[in-house]
Amino acid sequence: GFCVRNVTTWSPVGAAFNAKPHRRLELFEKNVGLFGVPELSSPAGFEVTTKRALKDTQELVDKVCSSPPGAVTVETFDQLSDGLCKVADLADFVKVAHPDPSFREAAEKTCIEIGTVVENWTQKQGMLSNLNPFTVAELFMFDFAISGIHLDEKLRKEAVKLHVKLLDLNNEFLMGSHLPNRIAKSAIPEHIHCHFATEGSFIQIGGLHAESSNDLVREVAYRIFLYPNADLMECLEELLKCRNKLAKLVGYESYAHRALQGTMAKTPETVMNFLQLLTDKLSERYTMPKSTQFAEVFVILWLCFGYRYNIEPSLYSPYFSLGSCMEGLNSLFTKLYGVSIMSEHPSTGEVWNDDVRKLAVVHETEGLLGYIYCDFFHRANKPHQDCHFTIRGGRQCQESGQYQLPVVVLMLSLPHPTKSAPTLLTPSMMENLFHEMGHAMHSMLGRTRYQHITGTRCATDFAEVPSILMEYFATDYRVVNQFARHYQTGQPLPQSMVARLCESKKVCGAADTQLQIFYSALDQMYHGKPQNRSTTDILKDMQHKFYGLPYTPNTAWQLRFSHLIGYGAKYYSYLMSRAVASMVWKQCFVQDPLNRDMGERYRREMLAHGGGKEPMLMVEGMSQS
Ligand SMILES: [Zn+2]
Repeated sequence: GFCVRNVTTWSPVGAAFNAKPHRRLELFEKNVGLFGVPELSSPAGFEVTTKRALKDTQELVDKVCSSPPGAVTVETFDQLSDGLCKVADLADFVKVAHPDPSFREAAEKTCIEIGTVVENWTQKQGMLSNLNPFTVAELFMFDFAISGIHLDEKLRKEAVKLHVKLLDLNNEFLMGSHLPNRIAKSAIPEHIHCHFATEGSFIQIGGLHAESSNDLVREVAYRIFLYPNADLMECLEELLKCRNKLAKLVGYESYAHRALQGTMAKTPETVMNFLQLLTDKLSERYTMPKSTQFAEVFVILWLCFGYRYNIEPSLYSPYFSLGSCMEGLNSLFTKLYGVSIMSEHPSTGEVWNDDVRKLAVVHETEGLLGYIYCDFFHRANKPHQDCHFTIRGGRQCQESGQYQLPVVVLMLSLPHPTKSAPTLLTPSMMENLFHEMGHAMHSMLGRTRYQHITGTRCATDFAEVPSILMEYFATDYRVVNQFARHYQTGQPLPQSMVARLCESKKVCGAADTQLQIFYSALDQMYHGKPQNRSTTDILKDMQHKFYGLPYTPNTAWQLRFSHLIGYGAKYYSYLMSRAVASMVWKQCFVQDPLNRDMGERYRREMLAHGGGKEPMLMVEGMSQS
């Protein structure tokens, strides 16, 4: 129609994100402290809260360790980890995100202090943990069972030694995997020097330059950046050996067997079968584009990059103002779950930066479900990665009988609004926003007895299901039609553009998936039973089997595979989450993505349980009922 809507007709949540926050006079208002924790109105408060948390938990640790394992242990353990995590998770966030360095430093100190204490406990008590002590889940019973608690004294000492050695090797590999490689300028054709950073008579290459449209630049970058470094190679071989030894010590066939406990996949065999199945499916539908007869990895990488958005993002942005995207999310959640997201004004001192917005998540009959703090805008010193932080996990409080409401932060790096326009998102930014909100709602809609298994604290290969499912919603025309409208004219996004947007995603999908399959298989092989061949030989083999492109001589991509450290045998998780999300989408939402019954079922069967229910049972519950 010709109806042009006025710019000011945003719903409250839309308006909150499209308008600049007006600053209030805060002189006489009491500083409530970060996240409403009164002590945290100044950096010094971190020490106070840390001391108290440690004192409280010491008592609980004594209790846990003096009684035989059982139901009470789990209860106490959850209380213990809740007390610690409330401080440690908050500090973990503040140390990377607070704009004030004195807050960051104080938070960092807290992280180290709690980490050290937890490390001491676990070593003393034999609760050996191989995970980052600042994340919570490893304080759980389950980790008791798979860690070194059952070992006799001598073996336990050996396990601790391996553990400590691994910490060093992990760090060394992580650092090395990000270092640039250098080459003499004279070795590179002069006309492409300008594409790289230089240092004296050397050229520094710190990445694959996959986005460059210049063939030679990509080839040079590929060959130099991936040129093997002998020390790092040795570090990786040693690291994999140590991981294997540790796993064997605590009774597992291999590191992969140990890592896959409690996941959807459960065993390395299932993972490899899954990867093979994906490969077969993919080759039925997909053949490499013709332009790649001289198939080399660096060509494919570029194709993949270039195809991702086969559309002009700037044409879409005016229809995806941040406010309209938030309205879209709000209306989606209302239709699916009867839940609204409402903008609330934070109190003085509650947030770490002026532009942070606070959302109350409210159910139509159950009332307040939790809080999402939206730290959406770019600023100096802020990590660039889009991220979801759990500040406080939901849990049934045995002490008070109340449900402890979850609190999370979503961090993005969006451009600021300007004088003339609100923040405008490209399609990929919009999709990221939906993805991250998927994580947040996983936390908000969880209703678990324990906080150590709430929301996103679940099996690694299930964790991305709710967020990837949101990407399906973000590129479905029926959902996009609900919210995409021009920030100036109020006109909806033209149908042809909606269609092109929803198509564009599929083009790269296959090439990208194939690459991810190859990485996942490599990760499995490295963490499986030790083989009598080098990591490069294994890479050659896996690349041939799962990627179909020949290995480029004198390269060692595995030395850039830093995810080996954090994911260790679980890199396939993303693919598996994607497979499950796609299944849920096809079985439940593709018919009608705004169906309330389906939304309720999804909440009840999947989102509510966090890590408290076997993922495969959740999937089954979803497809039947
Ligand atoms: Zn995610």
